[in-house]
Amino acid sequence: MAVMTVDPFACDDAELGEILDGEPAYRVRQLRGWLQRGVDDPQEMTDLPAALRARLAGRLDPPGRVLAHRTADGGQTHKLLLELGATDAAGSATGADATQGAGSPAAEAIEAVLMGYPRTAERAGRATVCVSTQAGCALGCPFCATGQAGFRRQLRVGEIVRQVTALQRRLREGAIAIPGVPDHVTNVVFMGMGEPLANVEATVAAIRWLHDPERGLGLSARSITVSTVGLVPGIARLTELGLPITLAVSLHAPTDALRDDLVPVNRQFGLDALLRACRAHQEATGRRMTFEYILIDGVNAQRAHAEQLAALLTRRDAPRVAHVNLIPMNPTPAVPWHAPPLPDQQAFAGVLQAAGLPATVRHNRGGDIDAACGQLYAEQRLGSGRLLPAAQDAWQRWPIQLETGP
Ligand code: SF4
Repeated sequence: MAVMTVDPFACDDAELGEILDGEPAYRVRQLRGWLQRGVDDPQEMTDLPAALRARLAGRLDPPGRVLAHRTADGGQTHKLLLELGATDAAGSATGADATQGAGSPAAEAIEAVLMGYPRTAERAGRATVCVSTQAGCALGCPFCATGQAGFRRQLRVGEIVRQVTALQRRLREGAIAIPGVPDHVTNVVFMGMGEPLANVEATVAAIRWLHDPERGLGLSARSITVSTVGLVPGIARLTELGLPITLAVSLHAPTDALRDDLVPVNRQFGLDALLRACRAHQEATGRRMTFEYILIDGVNAQRAHAEQLAALLTRRDAPRVAHVNLIPMNPTPAVPWHAPPLPDQQAFAGVLQAAGLPATVRHNRGGDIDAACGQLYAEQRLGSGRLLPAAQDAWQRWPIQLETGP
């Protein structure tokens, strides 16, 4: 029989009280405190009685387990390979609905990535975590390795949040120490595997938890970025949320005709509807937004595309643009496309800049980890535990860092 467990990060205080049935009210505060400190294994919650710890171990979703910890960029980038979810007693996935607070999600290995940006004379140091919101993705963008591999399941609220708290704990405890970088997470970007707004309720709940100063991490909304390929109802949901988070939209094409091919969900929500939704978000939050654009040689990176993009983003009804990130296409398994030569990349940026748009070509860190949504998956394990072929070398190149804690 499948084990039924509850996601504690999706619970309010009343729901945690029910789980702690019969315990004094202050136990809720103790449990919350451990979760905030990145301790999600009840056996480590040492101020709880042993019998209660054992009971919680059977009631709560299993803690994230670190399978590997690797570094890149001279120690400024850290990846944890986290095992999330559970298997039943027979060892097979339960297949329960992973978006809800009950039932046990199937086990998945997910990468949590920390990028350290040391302080400079101009700006404070930052510790940015990039999180995934789905195991796989159903939206099928043809340039994206995640899209090629398909959709496996939604991540729960706690599975999204744990990617942050696991790294926060290591920063706080000194297991990760990067000179000039704070000892706590300062920014979170929803740019990992999956489309956050295709798992919108878990994404919104995770944002609320990360932002909540009492019961979560207390991150400023401005330091949270959600990257989407443009699911209009999801953008509307973020607008309702009313928090001034940063919206980053992956455009990848300047016309509906080309975007229908490169981002198939565009057939459902075309560019007009997308720009209207972005503008509404901006008017509600006061935030300028960013656009992401993968440069693919011979597909969307010619001068004419740059001129069309400049015209699109300077339309009277377009949202105000904080930045256009141009991302040279990363080599992706089973995808024949590649980035244009450097001079073409710079010429593309030049056309946008001449139109008054702040645009830069972004060079990726840590072997693709700062790429557009989904490209991370080239280095993800498949559900079977197998790595995609092109990822095997990349993963092996990362020096192993020994884990001393959970
Ligand atoms: S680019 Fe994003 S939305 Fe498109 S398939 Fe990849 S993960 Fe999904």
